[in-house]
Amino acid sequence: MSPPSEVRVRIAPSPSGFLHVGTARTSIYNWLFARHHRGKFILRIEDTDLERSDPELVEVILEGLRWLGLNWDEQPYYQSKRFEVYPSYAEKLLQQGKAYHCYCSPELLKQKREEAIREKRSVKYDRHCLRLSEEEKKRLEAEAPPKAIRIKIPPGETSFHDLVYGDLSYDNADIDDLIIMRSDGRPTYNFACVVDDYEMKISHVIRGNDHIPNTYKQLLLYEALGITPPQFAHLPLSLGIDRSKISKRDGAVAITDYRQMGFLPEAMVNFLALLGWSPGDDRELMSTSELIEAFSLERVSQSNPVFDIEKLKWMNGEYIRSRDDNELVPLAAPFLIEAGLTTKLAVEIRWEYMKKVVGLLKGRCRLLTDFAELGRYFFTDKFDYEPEGVKKHFSSPECNPWLASLAERYSSLQKFDLQAIETSLRGLAEELGISAAKLIHPTRLATTGMTKGPSLFELLEVLGREEVVERLERAVDFIRGNPTPADKTDTG
Ligand code: GLU
Repeated sequence: MSPPSEVRVRIAPSPSGFLHVGTARTSIYNWLFARHHRGKFILRIEDTDLERSDPELVEVILEGLRWLGLNWDEQPYYQSKRFEVYPSYAEKLLQQGKAYHCYCSPELLKQKREEAIREKRSVKYDRHCLRLSEEEKKRLEAEAPPKAIRIKIPPGETSFHDLVYGDLSYDNADIDDLIIMRSDGRPTYNFACVVDDYEMKISHVIRGNDHIPNTYKQLLLYEALGITPPQFAHLPLSLGIDRSKISKRDGAVAITDYRQMGFLPEAMVNFLALLGWSPGDDRELMSTSELIEAFSLERVSQSNPVFDIEKLKWMNGEYIRSRDDNELVPLAAPFLIEAGLTTKLAVEIRWEYMKKVVGLLKGRCRLLTDFAELGRYFFTDKFDYEPEGVKKHFSSPECNPWLASLAERYSSLQKFDLQAIETSLRGLAEELGISAAKLIHPTRLATTGMTKGPSLFELLEVLGREEVVERLERAVDFIRGNPTPADKTDTG
C-alpha cells in the first residue's frame, strides 16, 4: 500500500466524560500512523449531541490524550461549532433527488418499528415520505411539521478494500434510508462524519471494526455527494476493553483510571499498541520512537486481542525499573502523598532521600502505587511486624540478645555506611557462631516489619543509624513481650 501524498488521520471521540481505553488505543494507532508517515493527526470532537456535551467532559478527553503523549496537529475541531457547514451538503443531495424530506414523527417511526418487529418484517424505514405525492407534500409543508432529511439508498452492493480486513461488501438492500439531518437541523453521526472527513482532507479512517456497518453507509454518502472517500482500516476490538465487555477484573474503562492505578503513560502506549498489532518480530518493550518507526497497518491483526492486565503490569514494572531515580521521584510522590506517608513539601526538602528510596524499591514495583505499599517503613515506624515473620524470625530465645548486640554495634560504629553496616553484622554473626542469615532476617523484620524487600544493608544505610538502632531496640522490647507502641510519623 502506498500512502497518499499527505497522510491525515483523525480521532473523533464523542465527549462522554472519559477517554475510553478502546478509544485511547484507536488514538494510538492513528497517531503512530501519522507520525510514521510524517502526516497529521487531527482531533475532532463529535459533540453534536448538545444535551450530552459539556466542555468539562471534553477537557477530560484532552487530558487523557495529553497524558498518553498523543499530541494532535492543528486546533481541535468541534462539530458543534460547525453546524452551518452541513446543511449545504444535504441541500445538494435534496436538489439532485438523492435525499428526501421525511415528515414522520419519532412516535410514528417507533410505532412502525414495533409493528415490524411483531410481524417479523424488516425494520427498515418504509419510504412512506419518498412516495408522497406533490399535493401531499404541499399540504404537509403548509402545516410545517418538523422534517428530517433522509438519504435514498440506491439498489446494488457497496464494496471497499479494508486495509486490515481486505475486500468487504454489503447488500444495499439491507441498508436503511438513513436520516442525515435531524428535524432540528443537526446532522447525524454518519453525515457529519463524511462531511468532516472530506473537509478535513482525511486520507485514512482508522477506527474500531464495530464501525464497519457505518462505513457502508458512509461510502454511499460519499458516492451520493460525488466525492472521493478516504481509505479505511478497521481495528479488531479488544476483548476485555471494548464496549460492554469491560469488567473490573480486566482493568478499567477510563484511561485516567489507569493513571490512578499507577500505570505510566509510556507503558500504556506500548501495551495498547501491541494489542492488535505486532512489529513482526518478538519485541515487546518498545519505546515510542521504535513504535513510530515500526508501525504499519499491514501488521494489524484481524483477530480480537485479549486485554491482559497482568501483562500490562509486567510491562509497567519494566518501565518503572528503567526510569532514572530523579524522574521517578515526582512520579511516585503523588501516590506516597495520597497514602499519607509524606507531603509535597517533605518530598522537595528531602529529594536526595526520596531518590534513594525509589531507587531501592523500583526493582520490586509493578505499579507506582507499589512504592507506598512496599516502602511504608521509609516514612514511618508505625508498622506491625508480619505475623508469619514473627513466628519465623523472632521466636528463637537467642534472637533478642542478638538484636540487642547488633543495636549496640551499630550505635558505636564510627561511620554508618554500607560497608560498615554489612561488615559489622557479618562480624557479629561470626562471633556468635551463627550464619549471617540468622541475623539478617530478624533485622529486616525489626526495621521494616516485612520479611522481603530490597537489599537489607542498603536500606539500613538509607534509613540511617538513629532510626535503625531505635527500631532494633523496639523489636527487642517487642520480643520480650513488651511492645512499645511507636508514635512517630514521617521518620523518612
Ligand atoms: N464519534 C465516533 C465514536 O466515538 C467516531 C467514530 C469514527 O471514528 O468515525 O465512535
